[in-house]
Amino acid sequence: MRRRQFLRHSGQLGLSLACLDLIGCQADPTPPATPPAPDYAYKLGEWTGDTFPAMHRIRDGIKAELPKPEKKVKLLIIGGGLSGLSLAHMCQDTDLLVLERESTPGGNAKSENYQGIEYALGSAYLVDVEKPFGEFYRKLGMDLKPLPQPTESVWTPSGFVQMEKGAQAETIERIQKEMRKMMDSRDYPHIPIQRATPAALKLDDISYYDWLKKDYPEYIPLADEYCWTALGGSSKKITAYIGVNGLSELVMDMYAFPGGNAAIAKKLVSAIGPERILTGQSVYKVEQDGRVGFFDTHAENPEFRCIQAEQVVLACPYYFAARLIPWADPQALKTMRGLEYGSYMVVNLCFEGQVFHQGYDHWCPGQDAWADFVDADYAAGNPVKTANVITVYAPFRDAVVGRALLQAGDGAPLARKVVDDIQLRTQFPKDKLKEVRITRYGHQIFCSRQGVIRQLLALPRHFGKVHLCHSDGQGCASVESALSEAFALAPVLKKKV
Ligand SMILES: Cc1cc2nc3c(=O)[nH]c(=O)nc-3n(C[C@H](O)[C@H](O)[C@H](O)COP(=O)(O)OP(=O)(O)OC[C@H]3O[C@@H](n4cnc5c(N)ncnc54)[C@H](O)[C@@H]3O)c2cc1C
Repeated sequence: MRRRQFLRHSGQLGLSLACLDLIGCQADPTPPATPPAPDYAYKLGEWTGDTFPAMHRIRDGIKAELPKPEKKVKLLIIGGGLSGLSLAHMCQDTDLLVLERESTPGGNAKSENYQGIEYALGSAYLVDVEKPFGEFYRKLGMDLKPLPQPTESVWTPSGFVQMEKGAQAETIERIQKEMRKMMDSRDYPHIPIQRATPAALKLDDISYYDWLKKDYPEYIPLADEYCWTALGGSSKKITAYIGVNGLSELVMDMYAFPGGNAAIAKKLVSAIGPERILTGQSVYKVEQDGRVGFFDTHAENPEFRCIQAEQVVLACPYYFAARLIPWADPQALKTMRGLEYGSYMVVNLCFEGQVFHQGYDHWCPGQDAWADFVDADYAAGNPVKTANVITVYAPFRDAVVGRALLQAGDGAPLARKVVDDIQLRTQFPKDKLKEVRITRYGHQIFCSRQGVIRQLLALPRHFGKVHLCHSDGQGCASVESALSEAFALAPVLKKKV
């Protein structure tokens, strides 16, 4: 959509001038001559995603002293995302408890349902099913079948074209060749980053943009979209270590379950036992002696509670974990607080009937309403003919502005911008769009910026009986990062509890 059109729609939908200023647009002083007739009749669903008030309360500092511990456990895990849940699963023979801030466990990997279609609220697909990941999924009972082609397509003036057959075909083939060679070498930039050789680590000293510029400059616009959607910035900001690691997607199969990676979280919850996961509880303080203070996320005047643990795991984003342990090593806290995160919207478009079924993941470089969208139904392999859900990934290009807009909470103009652009590309029948559901992420997409891998390798992971275990520790927001952290910590903890 052109800028002027966007401003008209925004104005019509009540986006305040203050917000327009925030997103860097000048308000158009001329009102449209004839207001366009309402052309969609979709319902805007309730926001899902981060609960900001509890997080902001902790950020602003809670002075309350910890009350007397109400009970003792051997292992207390703070955060029920994929890292916390997989760690709990690996340590499940011990006396443990998971405290999770939100009402549903899963973190970035949660799902909901529309007319029988399970769709992702965040994390959607995975690629690495090699050892140890594949074995882990299979043991959980996950059915690992690669997605059928076309898995990825890119926008051209004549519609979406399979990526390997589009204008970039020759470049992609060259990248694939280089990746196959690299992936067989010790110097491939691995996750876990602890496996990095000195040669691989050199990639962390340059940006992904600089790496691509040499041999694949024409791939940069597409790489940029991937960087925004998965790595928290443009290729100029992102470390070549993680950028090149991500290129493995061009040679590996993609796997997606109905509801995306929430399917893994659900399997983990049932294997751990839901009674061992206390949801809706925000941790605000962790003491060196293992006492953990928490309160009900949704209560206005919550009671402060405390549990004593022999070992505590912070399975929450590092910048946030730093707030909970102000007594830890100052240099480590400085690193953790200095990490960057993007803000993000995932917009699920819920249709009556099947309006779009052309493969899985779709890209359109060069516009800013969204980065990519996936067909939720495609992952099920057995399309539901009566409905269709398109999951749109819409990272904000300015994280601070994005947070302000998400906090302001006016979803209508944010949804409309995405809907209009997707309609332009897919030509879906406007009357078939029944509901738009937005999920908000204030700080969730970790920015894999240049130099961050060396920083993370130098960061201590244990502060006495308090341990870090979160995908942030691998410098990249991915399922493999979350699992790698749990794989590394589980044997350490098993010796202690
Ligand atoms: C929109 C989006 C799309 C993504 N898509 C993909 C994808 O397709 N493929 C892929 O591989 N990766 C994807 N990722 C990244 C991947 O999903 C994540 O890296 C992974 O799920 C993170 O798991 P985690 O447990 O490390 O962290 P999180 O999911 O961040 O879990 C941390 C948990 O801690 C809880 N918590 C935080 N603070 C507290 C507190 N004080 N007290 C109690 N609980 C607390 C949070 O509520 C949360 O549940 C995506 C991420 C996002 C945001």
